[in-house]
Amino acid sequence: MTNIAFIGLGNMGIPMSRRLIEAGHRVAGYDLTAAARASFAAQGGRAAAVLGEAVADAECVITMLPTGKHVRAVYEAEGGILASAPRDALLIDSSTIDIESARAVSGAATAAGFAMVDAPVSGAVPAAAGGRLTFMVGGSAEAYARARPLLDPMGANFFHVGEAGSGQALKICNNMLAGMTMVALSETIALGEKLGLDHQTLYDVIVKSSGNCWALEKYCPVPGPVPTSPANHGYAPGFALPMMLKDMRLAQQAAGSVHAATPLAGAAVALYQMAAAGGYAEKDFSAVFQLIAGRDGQPQAGATPVSG
Ligand code: NAD
Repeated sequence: MTNIAFIGLGNMGIPMSRRLIEAGHRVAGYDLTAAARASFAAQGGRAAAVLGEAVADAECVITMLPTGKHVRAVYEAEGGILASAPRDALLIDSSTIDIESARAVSGAATAAGFAMVDAPVSGAVPAAAGGRLTFMVGGSAEAYARARPLLDPMGANFFHVGEAGSGQALKICNNMLAGMTMVALSETIALGEKLGLDHQTLYDVIVKSSGNCWALEKYCPVPGPVPTSPANHGYAPGFALPMMLKDMRLAQQAAGSVHAATPLAGAAVALYQMAAAGGYAEKDFSAVFQLIAGRDGQPQAGATPVSG
């Protein structure tokens, strides 16, 4: 049993912290919103009124926050984690953030005497609820060895991928590919529709052919072939389109910093941006199909091709 502080009790933080509570850890939690703190208390966590109270007796602090700006604020602000947590606490940031912020926070934590890893995850809310996340961890081998058993209740796959910031680098590469693949698949299905092929036939053949990919097999962006995919539920997220856009932009930022050419990813960013501006900002990222297939306005459940 470990005293864990969990900061950021949103879509992912709530199910991840629940897994830790169910595994027998003593978990204190903090979020800016009262509603998130109440959900956390309802699942058996000790909700703290301020951040300092949550981390005061922590042996491990886990953060699950939206962006690098939020992570830096929570770590570095007056009364933040670096000022308030015991020096021997292990710090784990599981948010998806830019590499520069990850390295800056890790550097500040190390300078203050803490061990820290960046440990972003792949897998959305259902994977978090079922303890099936994939963790990609950056940091020292010693810090990873300490983190590994604490991550166990939340995940199914664990990879130590290098020094501080490497977990974020890998996560950004993965999501860049996932984002591009969804766009490529959407173009393919839209073309198939116009050529008179129905969705199920497209699915059945491609899933057994060289075009198969995760987006098709697990997350098909049209209703029918994969009943659990968001397309069957009005594109309710899932993985929200603005979150994918954020990750695709992080990849562009990282690519720019090392002069890597990513033209296809650049085109995909533009499409997600158009989708976000065109009425899909509250939807799952697979709703980019609706834009690519030429469905104007609000997302539709049907698969009727647009004429003209
Ligand atoms: P979310 O917006 O649902 O939750 C973030 C929470 O952080 C919110 O409850 C917010 O109130 C809280 N917060 C913000 N600033 C805070 C502060 N200063 N102090 C305390 N709490 C604060 O986001 P999410 O979907 O849970 O995602 C969290 C991170 O995980 C993101 O970086 C995201 O990219 C990544 N991620 C999300 C998914 C997913 O499917 N949702 C999957 C993999 C990775």
